[in-house]
Amino acid sequence: MQIDKKENLKISEEFVPFYDFLNYCRACFLSIIEYVDKNHLSDEPINYKSDKDRVIFEDVCKDKDAEQWLIDNGYKDVVFNFYFKHLFFSLLVDFCNYYNASIDMAFNGNIYVAWALLRKPLQETLAYIEWLYVDKDELLKLMIESNDVKSYEIMNKKNKIKIKEHIDKIQNCKSTEILDIYDFRYSYDKELTLNGILQAANHLITTRPVLKTSPSGLNFIFQNGERIYRDTGFYYTAISYVMTYTMDVIMKIFADIADLSEYTRAMNSLNLKLKELHTMSDQIDYKKAKELLELDLIPVYCPVCGQSNSSDEMWIKFAYSHFECSKCHNKINTYQYLFDFEDITFVNENHKDHNNGQV
Ligand SMILES: [Zn+2]
Repeated sequence: MQIDKKENLKISEEFVPFYDFLNYCRACFLSIIEYVDKNHLSDEPINYKSDKDRVIFEDVCKDKDAEQWLIDNGYKDVVFNFYFKHLFFSLLVDFCNYYNASIDMAFNGNIYVAWALLRKPLQETLAYIEWLYVDKDELLKLMIESNDVKSYEIMNKKNKIKIKEHIDKIQNCKSTEILDIYDFRYSYDKELTLNGILQAANHLITTRPVLKTSPSGLNFIFQNGERIYRDTGFYYTAISYVMTYTMDVIMKIFADIADLSEYTRAMNSLNLKLKELHTMSDQIDYKKAKELLELDLIPVYCPVCGQSNSSDEMWIKFAYSHFECSKCHNKINTYQYLFDFEDITFVNENHKDHNNGQV
């Protein structure tokens, strides 16, 4: 939900659109986690090959290594799928715990604590989510079969090289990116990076060449308003950029696990892009956004009455706060992950069970 602009703002007005965007990401994660709990998505059913297997497994569960029995008896996929879902949702919750606290800290003006809270989620938790996205079998195999945690410790020198490879694969080697996501998260060569800010935020004296504390000084003993403003601005712009990337990866893994429809995926992907453009592209007006995202080609079907909506007014409201159907005036808050379109049945999807939309 967007913040109430009438309340006393604790941050400078120019950062409010970024705060709105970061809050939209928080709301999406929350709606995803609630959906997972409600629909028991982290459970993995076992389709037994025979009644005999079912009886034996129930017995094994009482006092032996049930996981090993499943692997040894042709149910390896069950173990891997169970680990995959549990790991992904646990990583997501872990990411949210730190991320949510960080954006609250930043909003309350505690910018260096806000930065400090991002080390674990951006350097470690996100790296495992990326690993799951690019090659989940490799990570799960190491976790289930290896006796050495170093084999899958992401910050281990041997594995760290994977992080860059994963980011490149996810971004499809885009060379025109505004911010290098790997450098931002792991480089020690620049002041305006996560490590650059963290070195100064977490230590009173730092000695790395680029981040060296000045003689006779301690980091932040003599901090000034200009520096705080710079690091606040960098927080909102860089983290919003990184969160667009993060949201995209998380939404893709989640939609696959939840087996969501292509239309639900498209609506959420579009919503993310609309919010991103609104937040980060001062130069892009609605007309350009409409052209860029080809909004003309994508009608929004009302999940209540099936009406096809495509007016400029509808899209502008969709980007800023909510969707409203022109026929039945059904409203949907767009500051969250959108599950509302999941029940629509398209004519060429007649194998699906639901038919609320009759589109
Ligand atoms: Zn309607």
